[in-house]
Amino acid sequence: MLIFLVIILLVATIVIYLVVVKHLKEVTSLRHTRDRHETINKITKSINAGMSSDKIIEIALKEIFIKFPHYRVSYATVSAQGLLSIKDCCTPENMPNIQGLNADLSVADDYLKALLELKVLAISDVMNDNRLTPLRGELMVGKTLAILDIPISHNDGFVGLFCMDAEAVHVWSEHEVNMLIDTAGYLEIAISQAEHLSQQDEMALQMENYNKSLEAEVLERTQELQEAKHKAEQLSMTDELTKLPNRRAFFAMSEKLHSQAKRNNHTFSILMLDIDDFKKINDDYGHEGGDAALISMGKILLSTLRNTDVVARIGGEEFVFLLTDTDLDGAIQFAKRLRILVEDNSMSTANGIIRFTVSIGVAEFYNKEDSLQATLSRADSALYIAKANGRNRVVSQPQIKP
Ligand code: GH3
Ligand code: MG
Ligand code: MG
Repeated sequence: MLIFLVIILLVATIVIYLVVVKHLKEVTSLRHTRDRHETINKITKSINAGMSSDKIIEIALKEIFIKFPHYRVSYATVSAQGLLSIKDCCTPENMPNIQGLNADLSVADDYLKALLELKVLAISDVMNDNRLTPLRGELMVGKTLAILDIPISHNDGFVGLFCMDAEAVHVWSEHEVNMLIDTAGYLEIAISQAEHLSQQDEMALQMENYNKSLEAEVLERTQELQEAKHKAEQLSMTDELTKLPNRRAFFAMSEKLHSQAKRNNHTFSILMLDIDDFKKINDDYGHEGGDAALISMGKILLSTLRNTDVVARIGGEEFVFLLTDTDLDGAIQFAKRLRILVEDNSMSTANGIIRFTVSIGVAEFYNKEDSLQATLSRADSALYIAKANGRNRVVSQPQIKP
């Protein structure tokens, strides 16, 4: 009976013990879970939008180091070729700072392979782990005896290591491993977001630069086009040979001057000029000789030009002069001087000296009812008479007023 009671007591004690242990385990597990959430929350709160991935890593390392001040906590990048480079680390006093340290992981095939497969490596004794044998030298420099590696991936590829190491052989607890895994998971998201944002910034900057260069190019092209347009306009208004305004330009300018004269009750006169027997100059001195004569005629006309007047080549060897604020008498005087200037002009060419004369018809604009065309016609008629009367002379319009 007593034995029976003892057995019952024993069984009850064991059951109670098991229940308490289970309960304690649950409490510890809950506490650890809460602890991890708190750590992640603290990191999250310290991170601002737009923060660089380096800064995010620095904050995370500090928080983990506060939790586990006896271990060194570090972040390293690993290149596609397996070159590890420690970017940042928080170090306890009894361990060396390994920031900036590089190691070639390709010498440790199995270790690198496990990391590339994104495996969590909780190694309690690095000196007795075959995978790390080729890296013993580097581990000794860092005074590392136990290591906990959490691979960090970006776009599904292994890019770095979140790492905690101890200077003594140490079996990593479930809590330590979970803490690092949770933080690393959060870090991966934060880093990829930061990189995404910085890529967007870079793209926005590139876009801005592209737009600026496009604007500059458009501006340059517009200027070139405007210059070309201006040149084309000039060309379309200029006689190629004599560089005098052409027929088009003459009419554009004289229409304006005619309107002004009408408006202000001013007068003006027209001279129609035609080189005499020009065909003969071409015959005697060749087409080049004829051209030289035309150029020479252009120079004579320009030499007599006042700022407010207009002179133009309106046909083969036909020129026109519009003299502003000049009545018929003034225009006749001017035409006579011009005729003499042409007569006295001589040009020496390879084929000899060229001389030529000019016939001039003069007409005056009478009154508001008088059109430009009518004035030009009268000057033309006068020129016709000059030709008919023997050339090399000035004839003014028939004195019949319209
Ligand atoms: P008129 O005294 O009656 O005016 O006789 P003309 O020979 O001067 O007049 P005509 O109209 O019979 O001949 C003009 C000539 O001018 C004919 C044409 O070949 C020539 N000509 C027209 N334009 C040019 C040019 O740009 N260069 C040269 N060299 N000759 C030209
Ligand atoms: Mg002619
Ligand atoms: Mg002629």
